[in-house]
Amino acid sequence: MIIILLGPPGAGKGTIANEISRRISIPVIATGNILRNAIDKNTDLGKIAKSFVVSGKLVPDEFVIRIVEDRITESDCEKGFIFDGFPRTTNQARELDMVFKRLDRNIDQVFYLDTSYETIISRLSARRVCTKCGAIYNLKYDPPEKADLCNKCGGKLIQRVDDQEETIKKRIDVYNEETSPLISYYEKMNILTKINADQDLEDIFKILWNRLIEIGVIKNSKLW
Ligand code: AMP
Repeated sequence: MIIILLGPPGAGKGTIANEISRRISIPVIATGNILRNAIDKNTDLGKIAKSFVVSGKLVPDEFVIRIVEDRITESDCEKGFIFDGFPRTTNQARELDMVFKRLDRNIDQVFYLDTSYETIISRLSARRVCTKCGAIYNLKYDPPEKADLCNKCGGKLIQRVDDQEETIKKRIDVYNEETSPLISYYEKMNILTKINADQDLEDIFKILWNRLIEIGVIKNSKLW
């Protein structure tokens, strides 16, 4: 099963992707996480990506597409995967279509998480991320049990550098200009489901899960 989560920063893509992954054991491919890891390790890719990520701009398509092509041909992706944060430009979406054609794979569904400006700001400014396992917390809605420490692995929680207000605004502009055209791109392919993402994450997840059952990619509805 191949799922794409589309939506502005703060829509809940990461949390939803992790929950799908936990339930049906397919990996999440989050290009933002891959890029942040590369930056932390100071690899060649990390050196190139750093200035873009820190300022809230998009890393050039050629690098991101190469990362994705390498990742999806790994063995754990055979059963499927969930894209979080990819594709982010029409060019990336077209390239992905070509790669999938070559690999004889299909996108099952694209979920567009439609989110208001107020929700984005309130989710991102309170977001904290585990430096060890990547778990996501929200200080208002889903705080950790111990301040600044991950419930799952005890890792240190931090605020992402690009979750500060000025960069958030930049990322929203970039989303509106470069990523939002993908809504009509996938609508035309008849594989887009729009969900109001101002709701609680649990409610968003229920709608998404029911849709996956409806289109027949999840057979066992007892999983809910
Ligand atoms: P995210 O974790 O998805 O919010 O991504 C964080 C940052 O990584 C973005 O603001 C971009 O700088 C970069 N990034 C992540 N995914 C992509 C992508 N598909 N194309 C270009 N840049 C990306």
